[in-house]
Amino acid sequence: MNNHANSPQLPSEPRQLGFYVDGQVRDRGEREVLTRLSPAHDVAVSETVLCTKTDVDEAVAAARKSFESGAWSRWSGAERAAVLLKAAAGIRENLDELAYWETLETGKPISQSRGEIEGAAGHYDYAAGVARSLHGDSFNNLGDDMFGVVTRQPIGVIGLIIPWNFPFIILAERIPYMLAAGCVIVCKPSELTSTTTLRMAEILTAAGMPAGVFNVVTGMGPEVGQAITEHDDIDMLSFTGSVDVGRRALMASAGNFKKLGLELGGKNPQVVFADADLADAADGVVFGLCFNAGQCCVSGSRLVVEKSVAKEFAALVADKLKRVRMGDVFDPETQLGAIVSPQHFEKILGYIESGKQDGANVVCGGCAVETERGHFVLPTLLTDVERSMAVARDEIFGPVLAMQTFETFEEAIEIANDSIFGLAASIWTKDLDKAIHAMRRVEAGRTWVNTTIAGGPELPIGGFKQSGNGRETGVYGVEEYTEVKSVHIALGKRDHWVK
Ligand code: NAD
Repeated sequence: MNNHANSPQLPSEPRQLGFYVDGQVRDRGEREVLTRLSPAHDVAVSETVLCTKTDVDEAVAAARKSFESGAWSRWSGAERAAVLLKAAAGIRENLDELAYWETLETGKPISQSRGEIEGAAGHYDYAAGVARSLHGDSFNNLGDDMFGVVTRQPIGVIGLIIPWNFPFIILAERIPYMLAAGCVIVCKPSELTSTTTLRMAEILTAAGMPAGVFNVVTGMGPEVGQAITEHDDIDMLSFTGSVDVGRRALMASAGNFKKLGLELGGKNPQVVFADADLADAADGVVFGLCFNAGQCCVSGSRLVVEKSVAKEFAALVADKLKRVRMGDVFDPETQLGAIVSPQHFEKILGYIESGKQDGANVVCGGCAVETERGHFVLPTLLTDVERSMAVARDEIFGPVLAMQTFETFEEAIEIANDSIFGLAASIWTKDLDKAIHAMRRVEAGRTWVNTTIAGGPELPIGGFKQSGNGRETGVYGVEEYTEVKSVHIALGKRDHWVK
């Protein structure tokens, strides 16, 4: 680990955050706050307001008023696109500041925060195009006296609940698509990472978004999140987070049968066939594990490798894992950052212990990094893993790779699909037929061939099985936030029913 010699200055006092309702920052007032420590430095960097149920009610009322007013919801696609494009420019203008805060609150390396902010701007650009091209359908084949139209209209008020691992890009994979559809939003960021969401509200307002369209209530899940999921005047809930909380959100949202979008966890297989370019595959596997310190819903945390090359491949992966650069999260060369919280750090170490007790072999890593500040885990490769072990089944959400082997194509697919999750999978082979057959058979919303964690606004994302419902991004991502209405238009004089 290198030291913190290159770090920009840390805040001398924690940043006092407000919350954002009806186009304005609201002060903390008498409310409690949560102090956020930077996971890489253990220094207090921000104070997040713990909003109340009443604050949620006010935010929903502001959103509803805005939606009904038609300012935004009935604007043309071109008008909405103009705001989204300005918001993209606003993100780029504030890149340094946004990336700094993303790293402070999440503990990720600054290069990954910068990539996240740049990628986010691209989503606003892309959604602006969809705002202008969104359209319905027409039926000119219903006979001489009938014409049919299928039209899309915005769903209405959306409750948006966001996790801590990619606070800014997860917002960007949702907000511009909701806005492109004409919806309005009440958003709750993670209590650990609220700063950049609040900055996004200001950027949108500066870009010309009317008051009440994007509201942010900060605070704890069981209070603020629960109030959003239960709220009867919210038309749709978009929840991204863990399976357990997702299940709770599903139950809580039943009161008014709001539409539900769920983006949940993963235990994503990296399937490596013997004929793969093993050096490339090892590099991809290491990236897929270490990016964001393994705290990605799409982290490739299960290595499923053909037995004939397993030993050689494990050695290639271990060699690379040992060379991943860890250290000062503000050093542009750092590749692996801190773990988000002391509790999560302990959970990851607990999983490594459970793997050892169950009989897995630690090839490299397997422990915490000794540092004066922050919480870091060495990237870890476990071999001799059995399907029944917790390290093979649970989402650890840390840099811990559990390796299993297979002998036949069928066995590879069976192991890959042996999970409650179905979020992502990677397939490594030079055999085109095998790649396409495996891609078809694997149960995952996102499947990569000879790469991993590739993405962008054009292709949709989402999960199979307990990884969730619905899709974000792409044209599908805007359509998710629309209601489909079918219209029959009668032509000419009516043939009377009562003569
Ligand atoms: P989490 O489920 O603990 O929290 C997610 C959000 O829900 C937070 O804002 C939290 O405050 C809120 N929340 C907590 N209790 C709530 C309740 N009772 N009602 C409503 N909201 C509540 O998840 P996390 O630890 O923040 O994030 C990690 C998880 O998110 C992992 O499981 C990861 O796989 C998943 N994730 C999924 C995707 C995806 O696109 N599929 C993306 C990123 C993260």
